[in-house]
This record gives sequence, structure tokens and C-alpha cells, in this order.
Amino acid sequence: MTSLRGVGAALASKLARLGVTRVSDLLFVLPLRYEDRTQVSSMGTLTPQQRAVVEGEIQLTEVAYRGRRQLLCRISDGSGMLTLRFFYFSTSQQHALARGTRLRCFGEVRRGPLGLEMVHPEYRRVVADAAPLEDSLTPIYPLTEGIPQGRLRALIGEALWELERAGLPDFLPQGAGLPADLPTLKESLNYLHHPPTTARLTELAAGRHPAQRRLAFEELLAHHLALKLRKRHLKADPAWELPDDAALARRFIDALPFALTGAQGRALADVQNDLRTGVPMVRLLQGDVGCGKTVIAAAAAARAAGSGMQAALMAPTELLAEQHWRNFRDWFAPLGQTVALVSGSQPARTRRSALAAIASGEIALVVGTHALFQEGLDFARLALVIVDEQHRFGVQQRLKLAEKGQQLGRVPHQLIMTATPIPRTLAMTAYADLDISVIDELPPGRTPVHTVVVPAQRRAQVVARIVAACRAGRQAYWVCPLIEESDELRAQAAEETAAALTEALPGVRVGLVHGRMPGAAKDQAMLAFKSGKLQLLVATTVIEVGVDVPNATLMVIENAERMGLAQLHQLRGRVGRGGEASTCVLLYQAPLSPPARERLQAIRESTDGFAIARRDLELRGPGELLGTRQTGLAQLRVADLMRDADLLPRVQACAEVLIASHPASIAPLAARWIGAGERYGRIG
Ligand code: ADP
Ligand code: MG
Repeated sequence: MTSLRGVGAALASKLARLGVTRVSDLLFVLPLRYEDRTQVSSMGTLTPQQRAVVEGEIQLTEVAYRGRRQLLCRISDGSGMLTLRFFYFSTSQQHALARGTRLRCFGEVRRGPLGLEMVHPEYRRVVADAAPLEDSLTPIYPLTEGIPQGRLRALIGEALWELERAGLPDFLPQGAGLPADLPTLKESLNYLHHPPTTARLTELAAGRHPAQRRLAFEELLAHHLALKLRKRHLKADPAWELPDDAALARRFIDALPFALTGAQGRALADVQNDLRTGVPMVRLLQGDVGCGKTVIAAAAAARAAGSGMQAALMAPTELLAEQHWRNFRDWFAPLGQTVALVSGSQPARTRRSALAAIASGEIALVVGTHALFQEGLDFARLALVIVDEQHRFGVQQRLKLAEKGQQLGRVPHQLIMTATPIPRTLAMTAYADLDISVIDELPPGRTPVHTVVVPAQRRAQVVARIVAACRAGRQAYWVCPLIEESDELRAQAAEETAAALTEALPGVRVGLVHGRMPGAAKDQAMLAFKSGKLQLLVATTVIEVGVDVPNATLMVIENAERMGLAQLHQLRGRVGRGGEASTCVLLYQAPLSPPARERLQAIRESTDGFAIARRDLELRGPGELLGTRQTGLAQLRVADLMRDADLLPRVQACAEVLIASHPASIAPLAARWIGAGERYGRIG
């Protein structure tokens, strides 16, 4: 890097922090947007909010104290006046802005106390009227600590010269799927860093220019390859073979009071096949809320136990961990296997004895939250790690748990469960490091949940519905508003709601559960609800994941307008789990914003997780949908998984060609787009 003009050790290390270690890396720092600075606007025509280039002569510069010290500089071009306002300035800057100096400024115009103004505009002195303007659109790069836009722009300019001189390797083989109508890599880079004044800004802003598509293709390919390689790498280590000589998996399935659905059967076969071999399973089990993923996980754990090994199940909330623990304990007792719970809130003594039993190997299955990868938890022979609701965890947490199980040169199998129903092509790219089984069928006899959207003014009518449901022997949830500020405020709101509902519903047994309650109290409330002792459970969104009480047929969600589609779908999935028809009431505060209206409409119209996910993708983009796991793919530079979804099949095909015929290109391609970072764990 220091070969570039003016790049010393300090700047080089700042650049390195951005993953820019070679001159060519600069080319892949791509503009976020563009501005048209090719024309000077006359001050008389400026309007607030406009971003404009102006040129004029300084009339007056003074330091003023209006609340805080600031530098005000009045400039005029004959057609009008403009104030430049600086809150941070040096004395030399103040002197340079002397009366009579000509400036060219760029910034956003706003209305100020002295008329129109620009706050901290970019500016430079101009000597003659004829000073050339920009001859292309001005790229705006992502802001980087300690490197000003101008400096970055100049550095990238030099990198473009270097590109002209030395060229750049193109790793995409001919005929490997790159759409033929796209420009070359070099043309694309030149264009995007230096678009001509005739470029269509709207097309660039939408990310649909062919130059952007060319780079998006390569970027998606790089990420896809990195994930694929990671999978290969994971599978290179040996895992435990789990023959299940005791046939516990089969005994568990046979003892269930229902038959597996076809889709469950196929998923189970995938999992059983993986576990039989000595190759680590790295499987994503994807299926909509309520499709019955838990029994597949239990069968896998039974298989580990039947092979004399241990399994661990990690859940995102204590509530869910406790529920799983209870279920698994009941399922495993007849098999003669012990299940332990490890949670952050259990008494130290209880935990200590659980840890000892895990270390001795006496425990077949451990259920817990992320407390599972705390220090001090050692397994005697962990062969299987199950992660429930993985979208709540980061990829790092899952890897940590898997690392725990690395013993005697063997790695544990991994089963990762998610209800995030992302479309198949997207999944194949975003989860290229995993094998995927999809459960695309609900157990029979479920009636779709009927969803109604009701303004908060009609709350009283909704409360009356609860009475009716309870009289009919059913149960209900009341989900309290989503308060962003803190757990504490959320807990408080839930307590107040529970008190109000207890008063309003004298004949109804009301309970409460929220995230701030001690584990035991939470547990007790959940159990009482499950057993039917409580009829109405007032809760925060802690019940969003996993909670399973089939007799609950009514759910009321307050302030539903504040929740995202995925969350509403998850919450609603708590009802409609038995044979009875269920209702979900979405209470909202008027007036609704247009996006909130769209969300509520989408959730009312569909109960299909895939359809809702597709809608969610359109409304929000894929980053959030894919959740925390997407530390990599959420930070794409040019590509957008949703917008560029049409490229994905060709990206996958191209990846196959590179792996088969050009393996040497893969590492440099990944380095170009992903850097040397550990985003996907070890690559290679
Ligand atoms: P999720 O996939 O959302 O985790 P669960 O595993 O919690 O769903 O299953 C939801 C409910 O459906 C549970 O009460 C479970 O016992 C029940 N269930 C699972 N599989 C079947 C089946 N094949 N037939 C009937 N009920 C089932
Ligand atoms: Mg579940």
C-alpha cells in the first residue's frame, strides 16, 4: 500500500482495518451512491434539501456564539447569498476563508436563521471562473474512520490508474454462467468509480446497472464459494458414527401418539443417514412454525444416546429450554435415558450437580440456553449438537458449541433448526455451508388460524372474546406491546396489563410471564398454563419461540403494528396447534403508517410461512430476514440477495465450475470480496 503516493504507515493501517491491504483492494471499495456535481447552481435558485454545487465570493467571515462557538461565512454569487456554518474549525481555516476569496462549495441546502445555509459543506478555493467542474458523477464511498471522502476518492483514482497499467485477473471462466450481456470486470470497475455524466442515476441507485450486476455476480459467487468451502472443511474432520445399536430412535418414534408426516419422515431419514456415517452432519432443518421439528431433534438425540454418546440442545430462551427439557425428559425416561437442564438462572447447587453428571457421561442429553458453552461445562462424549431457532443465534455461537465437542480428533454432528422459511434458491446460497432438509407439511387436522385486525378502541370487545374462549374450555394468550427501551419497561407493561385484565375478567384465572421473572417463576407460570390451571397467559414476546400449548386457541397481540412480519408469524404460531379452530387478534393503534398497514394485511391474508417470508423480503430486504447469522451476507457491497435473486442459479453453476476446474482461483476471489476476515470461520 505504501507504494501509493502519500500513503504512510498510519494511513496504511487504517486501510488495513477496512480489509484493504493491496492497491487492487481499493477498487472493490464501492460507492454507496452518486452525486451530480457537474453543474454549478446559482444561489438565487436554491431550495432547501437540495444538494448542490455553488460558487461565490466571501463577503464576511466571523466567529459567532449562538449556543455554541461556530464559524459563519457569508458568500454571494450576485444572484443570492448563502451562509456556510462550521461547528468544528481551525484558526488556519478561519484565516483562509478571508473576505474576497472565491469558493466552490458542495452540500445540502437548508433553511437557517440567516436564510439559506450549508452546514459543514465540502469546499475548495477556486482562482478563476473557468476552474473545471467534475467531469463525471461524484461517487460517495462508505464512510471510514479517519479517512476523509476526498482522500479515499484520490486513492481509488490512483488504483484506477494502476488498473489501467497492470490490469486485474478475471477469475470467472468463459461459459461458466456469467450472463453474456454484462461488461468486463475492468469496464465495470471503471464505470462505477467514474460514471459518465450521462449515466442514469436512478438505475445506479437501484443497483440495476450492468456494471453493478457484473460485480454483484462475482460478489455472490465469492460468498457462495466461501460457504461451500467451509462446509467441505467441516466435513473433512471425522465425526462419531452413531449406529444406535439400542434402537432408541426407532423406539422413541414408535412410542409417539401420532404418526410422522411424510415430510417429517423424509427429514428424519436424512438425519439418520447423516448420523450413521463418520462424516459430520451439518444439516439445516427448515420448517414452518408448528410443523413438528422437535420430534426430529429428539429422534436424533435418541440415536446418539442409543450409540452410547451424548447430545446437547441449545434454545434461544430459558422458557423454551425449560419446555424442551420437560418434553425430552418425558420422552427419554421410558428409554432409560437421563436429560439435564443447564440454565443461567438455576440455583448454583442444581447446576453443579448437572455439570458433574454431564462430565461423567451419566447424562444422555443436555438442554440449555447459550449457557451451554460457558466455561466449566465439559462433556464426556458429545456427538451431536442441536440448535433450535437458529436465527436467534449467531454463527459464532453455534461454532463455539461445536468446538466444545471436539474430542479425540472427532467433531460433533450438527442439526440446526429454523422456522425462517427462506426461498430455496436463496437458502442454497445463504446456507451453502449446510445441507438442507425442509419440512413443508403441517401435521394433519390443523385448522388454519383465523386472523383479524382490530383497532385498539375496540379492546373491550376483544376482552369479551377471552371470556367466551375460556367458557368453552379453551385458553388464550395476551401478548403485550413491544417496548424497545428495555426489558424492564417491557416487564412493567406486562405486569400492568395482567393486573388490568385480572380485574376486567373476574372469573378467569390469569397468569403472567416475562423475561425479567426468575427462571423458576417463569417455569411455574408456563406449567400452570400448560396444565390448564391458568386460562389466560399475559406475556411479553418471550413466548415467541417454541412454546407449545395445543389447547390455547386465542391470541391477542397488542400494538401489532410495531412488529415485523416474521415475529407476528412466529407469535401467531403459538395458536392453531390442536384440532380446534383458533383466532389471532391483532390490536393496533391508529393511525397506521403505510408499511404497518401492509404488514398487517399480509399477515391477515396468509398463514403460509413461505408466502409471508416472500412478502417480508419485499418489504424489508433479506438482511433482517436471515437474522444474525448473516454477519456475512448482510454486508454485501454491491449485491442484494433479493434484487439479484435471478443471478443465484448461475452463481451456483459457476461455483461448481470453479471448484471442479479452477480451484486455484477460489482463494484469491474470496480474498478480493470477503477479505482475510474470519467471517465464515476458517476458509480453505
Ligand atoms: P416446531 O416445528 O414449530 O418446533 P413442534 O415440534 O413444537 O413444532 O410441534 C408442534 C406440535 O405438533 C407439537 O405439539 C407436536 O407434538 C405436534 N406434532 C409434531 N409432529 C406431529 C405429527 N406428525 N402429528 C401430529 N402432531 C404432531
Ligand atoms: Mg420449535
